[in-house]
Amino acid sequence: MGKRSLIAKRMDHVPFQAIRAVGEEVAKLEKQGKHIIHMEIGRPDFDTPAHIKEAAKEALDQGFVHYTPNYGIPELREAIAEKLRSDNGLEVEPAEVIVTVGTIEGILMALMATLDPGDEILIPDPAWTSYQHCVRMIGANPISIPLKEENGFKPRIEDLEALITPKTRALLVCSPQNPTGVVLSKEELEQLADFARQKDLLVISDEIYEKLVYEGVKHHSIGSFPGMKERTITVNGFSKAYSMTGWRLGYVAASKELIGAMVRIHQYCTVCATSFAQKGAVQALRGPQEPMHAMIKEFDRRRLRVLDYLSQIPEVTCVRPQGAFYMLPCIKSFGISSAEMARYLLYEANVALTAGAFFGQYGEGYIRISYANSYENMETGMQRIVKALKALKK
Ligand code: PLP
Repeated sequence: MGKRSLIAKRMDHVPFQAIRAVGEEVAKLEKQGKHIIHMEIGRPDFDTPAHIKEAAKEALDQGFVHYTPNYGIPELREAIAEKLRSDNGLEVEPAEVIVTVGTIEGILMALMATLDPGDEILIPDPAWTSYQHCVRMIGANPISIPLKEENGFKPRIEDLEALITPKTRALLVCSPQNPTGVVLSKEELEQLADFARQKDLLVISDEIYEKLVYEGVKHHSIGSFPGMKERTITVNGFSKAYSMTGWRLGYVAASKELIGAMVRIHQYCTVCATSFAQKGAVQALRGPQEPMHAMIKEFDRRRLRVLDYLSQIPEVTCVRPQGAFYMLPCIKSFGISSAEMARYLLYEANVALTAGAFFGQYGEGYIRISYANSYENMETGMQRIVKALKALKK
């Protein structure tokens, strides 16, 4: 063998996902018999509603097991377009929708179809880490938009202005947001839309947590604002609202021009989303929505309880989360890094959490708490966290 590496240089900048590495440490402790409470989780702890599973089972029984059209089955594209028009105010036809293998495939398709190597895309920081790694995977450059606690973890236009270069091509928006739980208001999204229009940027809008909103706040789709349809790729999926993470189903909606570019990536990479899963997804959108509403109500109950617990520790501040199932409390006053804090809470309190630094440089000094675990487990986890933090302060 020669000396040449078998791995592409590009991959030097694509690390193994650290959240999984933490998972290995947790698994080791569990093997030793420790009772770990999982508050690092990024998926709903509910089962997929029965009517959705029934539809997929029926499809399997009827032999609906072959490739579907690349774009997805017509009834699902119709249901998605209908949902985007009625829930999100997006002027979308079924022909402007592609069913994808999870929201993540939609994001990767959007990036691959619109960015060339060396192009820059503005990405919130802290944010879901897949964004920056997907951008690097295609040889483009993610540029961090600082989300600061003092600004309620919301992007500021003056910060965005300062990041613009001749290479800036796109802006990624995620609301409700992971890991902060922050939801952008209509006015804040309108400001981002104005900015995108002024700077001639494409917008990729990840709306995966749109249904998980509390305290009466409303989710808005940036692609529905005047002049935004042509420059927005709306990405969404079934994972969170319908507790279907393992089904791997999502979708993109955009102008026909963008759809035409994205479908070429989709057809060469995955051909189509899983046939019988698509049949289930039709029922997710067209069937009863009560199971989803019950899940949201339960998340809200837990959210308020976690906030109660955090208020018992005066050293900890937390931007009030109004969406998703995460919050990002500040632990700076303890004088240790977020990774050290996550480790301390894992070993001292036997609670697994995610260090804020995992979500980007501006996540340092914070830890992400996920309440996608049962109410009872959340209670136990939070009691242990409060006790361990009080002990740390002494
Ligand atoms: N977008 C965000 C912001 C997420 O946090 C996640 C998963 O945690 C996803 C997308 C992934 O969605 P999917 O399971 O549909 O690929």
